[in-house]
Amino acid sequence: MLCVANFDGCFVSLNPAWRLTLGWTEAEMKARPFLDFVHPDDIAATLAAAEGLARGEAQTTFENRYRHRDGSHVWLSWNAVPRDGLIYASTRDVTETKRQAEALAKTEEALRQSQKMEAVGQLTGGLAHDFNNLLAGISGSLELMQTRMSQGRMGDLDRYMSVAQGAAKRAAALTHRLLAFSRRQTLDPKPANVNRLVADMEELVRRTVGPAIHLEVVGLAGLWPALIDVGQLENALLNLCINARDAMPGGGRITIETANKWIDEAGSRQHDLPPGQYLSVCVTDTGTGMPPDLVDKVFEPFFTTKPTGEGTGLGLSMVYGFARQSGGQVRIYSEVGQGTTVCLYLPRHYGEADEDDVTRRLAEVERAGQGETVLIVDDEPSVRMLVTEVLEDLGYTAIEAADSVAGLKVLQSDVRIDLLVTDVGLPGGMNGRQMADAGRERRPDLKVLFITGYAENAVLGNGYLRPGMQVLTKPFVLETLATRIKDLIVQA
Ligand code: ADP
Ligand code: MG
Repeated sequence: MLCVANFDGCFVSLNPAWRLTLGWTEAEMKARPFLDFVHPDDIAATLAAAEGLARGEAQTTFENRYRHRDGSHVWLSWNAVPRDGLIYASTRDVTETKRQAEALAKTEEALRQSQKMEAVGQLTGGLAHDFNNLLAGISGSLELMQTRMSQGRMGDLDRYMSVAQGAAKRAAALTHRLLAFSRRQTLDPKPANVNRLVADMEELVRRTVGPAIHLEVVGLAGLWPALIDVGQLENALLNLCINARDAMPGGGRITIETANKWIDEAGSRQHDLPPGQYLSVCVTDTGTGMPPDLVDKVFEPFFTTKPTGEGTGLGLSMVYGFARQSGGQVRIYSEVGQGTTVCLYLPRHYGEADEDDVTRRLAEVERAGQGETVLIVDDEPSVRMLVTEVLEDLGYTAIEAADSVAGLKVLQSDVRIDLLVTDVGLPGGMNGRQMADAGRERRPDLKVLFITGYAENAVLGNGYLRPGMQVLTKPFVLETLATRIKDLIVQA
């Protein structure tokens, strides 16, 4: 559209394109000031542009809306120059471009939102998946124990028991890590015997991958110790085995192999690792394999080729993050139709691995003195049962209460109480902390062990506890509970 206008604010001449775009005849448009056609919201900007022209400045980026004959508005983009007391302008209808840009912005926003939701959904799904695997380890073992017991075959019980305990420990470790993650805590590397870790996981992996897959573990004799976060390595290994399983829907073979590696200058460039001594943990499958362009993408968070609900796309990205943060590396060797090897390289630790668990065995904890009594308050019957059993094994007399009212009644009675073990979140109007404080009015020296989940830490004053009070975080190993109880009672 081309036009000439004067500084009185009127069109002098317009080409026919104007009529096509706005519906007005040339005569109609010349009959009134052009401001009459401008959208009320754009009048100020239009006047400013006109003032610019009056000062002799060309207007090349100016946009405003003109009223169409049918009442709608059309976006116009102006290229106008002043000359000899007149304005010469070429103008474009940019309504469609504007509309598309707006729609695009909206779509992009909606897409971002849906991607975010998808990511959250996948994350949740993945954790649920991990937990289900662990729960399968626990409930499966319990089921088997029940069957064996009904058959009178007690010999296998130990094995199932330790599988269940192992899975429960890993589940506990997973929640701890989630909490740690949400608080942005760092890894907790310790010298570790990776062969033993792999051997400890064999049963869980076997159960997770199912009977159609043959699992083989080849641990190098004389494997160096590694300096790593053990829980994370277990998690990484489990993730790799689950990936291997998923790549072999018709069954196959998984090999977990450990080795010592010397990375020299050449290898250092190739593996993007400082030269030095490493140990490798490789998981090999006989599955579908991956073409090279897929290998390039699999470490990206949320990248998955699995159907929604099955893959989170977080497995390998977490493995990668863990390996890099531990000073190591991950490498994938894969051939389509043949299978895949994923190798973790971990830095060697110069020194011995920690061979012993810190927790003492339950049997080694000394037995209680005569008549010592512990009050246990928890609304969860299974927790009360467990704690009571530990207490009785240790030779204590246990009194149980299910809420704060019942608990306080015992505390205010004359019954001998050497220790109160209580949950923090309790029904009955008081939390465990308040109940303990109320109990201390009558028994100033009452010793207290709080059992708590992380969320309740604030109730306890974030760790600032009075003397004679201690906290044990759920879930806990029974041996730890026994040791803590004993320590508290023995304390003068
Ligand atoms: P997810 O398992 O949730 O899809 P991962 O990050 O663990 O997420 O893996 C990303 C993708 O890498 C998988 O979807 C799969 O396409 C591919 N992949 C991983 N491991 C293997 C393997 N062992 N064999 C074939 N493909 C694999
Ligand atoms: Mg995976």
